[in-house]
Formats: sequence, C-alpha cells, structure tokens
Amino acid sequence: MSEQANPFESLQEQIDDAAAYVDVSEGVLERLKHPERVLETNLSVEMDDGSVEVFRAFRSQFNGDRGPYKGGIRYHPGVNRDEVKALSGWMVYKCAVVDIPYGGGKGGIVIDPDEYSEGELERVTRSFAKELRPLIGVNRDVPAPDVNTGQREMNWIKDTYETLENTTAPGVITGKAIDSGGSAGRVEATGRSVMLTAREAFDYLDKEMEGASVAVQGYGNAGWIAAKLIDELGADIVAVSDSSGAIYREEGFDPRDVKDHKNETGSVADYPGAADEFSNEDLLTLDVDLLVPAALENAIDSDLARDVDADVVVEAANGPLTPGADDVLAETDTYVFPDILANAGGVTVSYFEWVQNRQRFYWSEQRVNDELETIITKAFDDLTDAYEQHDLANFRTAAYVVAIQRVLDAYEESGNWP
Ligand code: GLU
Repeated sequence: MSEQANPFESLQEQIDDAAAYVDVSEGVLERLKHPERVLETNLSVEMDDGSVEVFRAFRSQFNGDRGPYKGGIRYHPGVNRDEVKALSGWMVYKCAVVDIPYGGGKGGIVIDPDEYSEGELERVTRSFAKELRPLIGVNRDVPAPDVNTGQREMNWIKDTYETLENTTAPGVITGKAIDSGGSAGRVEATGRSVMLTAREAFDYLDKEMEGASVAVQGYGNAGWIAAKLIDELGADIVAVSDSSGAIYREEGFDPRDVKDHKNETGSVADYPGAADEFSNEDLLTLDVDLLVPAALENAIDSDLARDVDADVVVEAANGPLTPGADDVLAETDTYVFPDILANAGGVTVSYFEWVQNRQRFYWSEQRVNDELETIITKAFDDLTDAYEQHDLANFRTAAYVVAIQRVLDAYEESGNWP
C-alpha cells in the first residue's frame, strides 16, 4: 500500500469537493473544516501490579450548530489527534445527512485493550470519564461506542458521570446495556443501516440482491451484523476477513457459523472449508457484486482502488476509502455508497436511545427498526436526488452537499456569536 492518507486531510478534501456545489463563503467554509475544540489529556492509571501507566486520550468537538456534539470513543493503539479530528468531522456530516439533531464529536484513547485486564480497562475508562465530565452532558456532548468499545465501557462512563454529578443522567452517553438505559436494536443498528443502504443501492441501480456475491472486510460488530442481515436478503457472503486473516468460498458462508468460529478461536481465519492462501487484499479486489469495508480508515487507497472489481461498495467503516481511491473509482463502473449514510444506523439508534432516556419511556425493537428504516431510506433518497440534480461524480459528494447545506442553514439561522 502507498503512503497512508491523513484522515483529517481526507475529510477536508471531501468537504471542499462538495462545497463547490453549495453557496458558502470562504470564511464559513473554513469553519466547516475545523473542530471547534479538541481536548488532549494524559490519563495516569494504576495497573494491577501497582505501577502507573500514562495513556494519551482525546475528545474533539467539531461542530455544534445542529445540536449536542455526538460520536463515539475508540480504544486503539493507532488513535491520534488528526484521526480523532477527522472522525469527529465525519460525525457532523453523518448526523446531518440522516437529519438527526446533533453536531459531531469523537474521542479516543491510545491503547490496545487486549493487553490489559478488565480492572485496568475500567480504571482507564473511569479516568477518561472524569476528564470528560466538564465537557459532556445530555444537552452538550453525548459519547457512544466505537472501535473496541461497547456497552461495558458506556456503562462505566455513565456511572462515573452520574456519581460525580450526583444525579441520574442516562442520556449522557448512548450504546449502554439495556438494563443501564440502552435501547433495543442499538447493537445491530450499524450493520442494519449497511444492509438497508445496500438494499436501496441495488434497487436504485436495478441490481438483484438475491444470489448477489458479497465480500465483507472486518468482522466486528458492524461487519458481522451487516453480513448476517445481507445474507437474510438472499445474497451469498463469499468472503470475510478480520485483523488475523481472510477466508473465501465461492458458494458462500453461513455468516452465523463464521461468527461462532470467531467467538471460539478469536478469528475468522482457518474456518473449515475455506480456500487456502486468501488475503485481505484478495478480498478487497475480488470480483463481487457488493464489497463492504467494515474495518478501519484507509483500507483502500488509490493504488488498490485500481484493482477493485466490485460493482457496488457500501462503507460500513468510517473513512475506508481515501479521496484518491474515490477519484479512481469515479472513473470506473464501481458505485460507492459512503460511510456517512451507510453506517449512520449506529448514531441514529443512539439518537433513539437518547430520546427514550429523556422521556424515560422505552420502545420495542420493532419500533426502533421501523423508525431506523424510515430515516435511512429518506436519507438515501435525499442523496440520490442531490446526485442527479448536480450531476455529481460520486455519491459521497452528494451526501456532503446535502449535509453541508443542513449545517450551513443551522449556522446561518442562528447568526454568529463571537
Ligand atoms: N461510533 C459510531 C459512529 O461512528 C456511533 C456514534 C454514536 O452512536 O454516537 O457512527
């Protein structure tokens, strides 16, 4: 792979590409491309052996014009300031494209969670929650899960916040376990919106989902649920991968069995009956009807994009294609449906969780799934309308045109406040 793109520069390029189709002044455009503020903190945490270790952590609050900052917290050794800034910006435009009343934020801790005990992770998490306390709040900034975080971490953050504030405030964070104020359907929500986007995309492009071949890169919460739900539409999941390996079988896998294998062995690799010698790169360049990158940013750069052979790409991860890859694919007959629509199910059901927390009234899973479907299909239609109206190069630019206009409207209606 060629030189790694800086995700913050990628975000800015994506905004510039769309800004050409929106009436925006240079100064305001600059505002749309930079976070309002970034917290950088160093957490000193006691380890099980009594030693102290320091963990660098960030929270970027990118834009609050449409509502509280919203976005997850990831635990990964590759977390850095520019990555968190980019991810927080993508949240702004994601929330705008699905038209939910939030701005965007993101946080991260530089840590490989596999290296630490549960007790150590709890202390790291509570230490970060203590640092975040003055910045977050039900009406201010509402974190959520992201890469390598889930219900457990969200429950700890909620408990730390509520204890320090001496109150109950479940809506300070989303992605909680149901008994801690979580929503039905939240765990599956990201994969569900990936499936809905793929379904709508196939319909829009007049392609059959029944019997379509599908490759999924990444088998975490987003990738595996997307694989399961797309399989339920009648497609064949012919290839999947995770950070330890990739597997392929022409006639397809049962995604639930692959998940069981991963639960037992820690990886999808060595799944019985899969072809030998199949790599992550083989997966990304496979001749399939649908490719779902569901791992990390920069999975496909301009070099690799030249070999991508899928008809449709639906992005489950945040930022898996670099702007260079977009430029290459815009010249081919591969259609890319962007992350800020396709994976927006997570934050959309986070919004439902937050609404339920505010009302202290909880919905059925059916209601959650129905309301999510309404939001994603409407956003899909808004995006394809913009694509056709402006005759755009790709659907990503269409999504940003829709989203930037909404953020601008909110900003301009409020007026500037120095
Ligand atoms: N981390 C998820 C995302 O990137 C969910 C964010 C949220 O629910 O606030 O969209």
